[in-house]
Amino acid sequence: MHTLFISDLHLHESRPQITRAFFHFLRTQAIEAEALYILGDFFDVWIGDDDDAQLLQEVADELFALKDKGVAIYYLHGNRDFLLGTDYANKAGMTLIPDGTVIDLYGTPTLLMHGDSLCTSDVSYQQFRTMVRGAPWQTQFLAQSIAARRAIAAQLREKSESMNSMKADDILDITPAEAQTQMEAARVTRLIHGHTHRPARHPLIINEQPAERIVLGDWHDSAWCIKADENGVELIEWKI
Ligand code: MN
Repeated sequence: MHTLFISDLHLHESRPQITRAFFHFLRTQAIEAEALYILGDFFDVWIGDDDDAQLLQEVADELFALKDKGVAIYYLHGNRDFLLGTDYANKAGMTLIPDGTVIDLYGTPTLLMHGDSLCTSDVSYQQFRTMVRGAPWQTQFLAQSIAARRAIAAQLREKSESMNSMKADDILDITPAEAQTQMEAARVTRLIHGHTHRPARHPLIINEQPAERIVLGDWHDSAWCIKADENGVELIEWKI
């Protein structure tokens, strides 16, 4: 048996080839897994679980079919889809888990994050993150009509070109010392995250033990996943 991890698909109506590649991945690779972890920015934007866009229904149906076949699906929030709630998660057969969850991955304690919280040198982003993750902002945002929320989301994407960009150069990398601190505190020897669109395996020493930070890639011209089993972990890339 094995476990799969993906992140940063940035599913959106404007990128149907990514949705197709994801459905193919579910039907071929994920169907063989015991669990699938989605580590954020699965959707390019999320305005609320009441969004009735067809893409969201199709993705929920595909995920639920996978869950029905016995694959556990876990989901943690990215910086673009952090408003995804339990209504949609239930519809898609996914279990929401907090950013920073530690799992026992075939004997190796493994910390799971999206990665944006590790970008501590971006002070203004961290302030924004704290605001939008809080109840007052979310309540106020979700109280607006779907049309109004769509307009705000479109405006936000337009305002900041980098928010709309998929290039790693336009996304700040994490602060390595912050990853070190979080891994030491969680007492893990492995961290898996996405967000930066810089897929790589970084060897580390954590609490005097050999450790590793593995970064997932985004889905663009290539797709990425991590496959873990009793023999270890692999970071896998394939062309879309
Ligand atoms: Mn992200």
